[in-house]
Amino acid sequence: MRIIAATNNANKVREICEIFVPLGFDVIPQSNAGIEIEVEETGDTFKKNALIKARAVAMLSDDYVIADDSGLCVEALGGRPGVMSARYAGEGATDKEKINKLLGELEGEENRRAKFCCCIAMIFPDGREYTAQGEVKGRILMEPRGENGFGYDPVFFSDELSKTFAEATNEEKNSVSHRGRALAAMYETIKNESK
Ligand code: IMP
Repeated sequence: MRIIAATNNANKVREICEIFVPLGFDVIPQSNAGIEIEVEETGDTFKKNALIKARAVAMLSDDYVIADDSGLCVEALGGRPGVMSARYAGEGATDKEKINKLLGELEGEENRRAKFCCCIAMIFPDGREYTAQGEVKGRILMEPRGENGFGYDPVFFSDELSKTFAEATNEEKNSVSHRGRALAAMYETIKNESK
């Protein structure tokens, strides 16, 4: 089954592939399917934004489409940056700049609790829409640790792995991550529906 991944983020495509390819799915990044669109994420929830992205690509494709919207929710910041995680330090800011802004905002803060949230949206060629959510809890360290992953991974210390996501292997991260969990929940939903 061919699925177009409605994202241009190579790290997200890799994580979607790592979970869906072993299950027998053929995951095609949207750019490889000739779909070159950048969708404005105007929703105020991960679910709304995942559906906005999936619907935009589904309009241009006859295949199954999968989209992800995700972000970091920090307790002491009232859940920010949340849906603004990608643009938290301004449009086009690097991961390092985002991490520096986060560490700056949390300076002197004792409550470092945070979670990554993800919503996966999937649209079938016949128009059926499904969503699935996943989250993972942890805390924000005082300084980055590790070289793997992307985004806020170097400062996100996973309670379950007892290391940062940037210190974890891809396999370890996928086994507990918000995206891994949302993708697994989506697989459970669609394995019966797609027959
Ligand atoms: P969006 O889903 O494209 O809106 O982007 C979400 C943003 O949240 C990313 O650009 C990252 O900064 C952050 N993010 C989402 N998932 C992860 C993750 O697994 N690790 C680190 N940062 C993440």
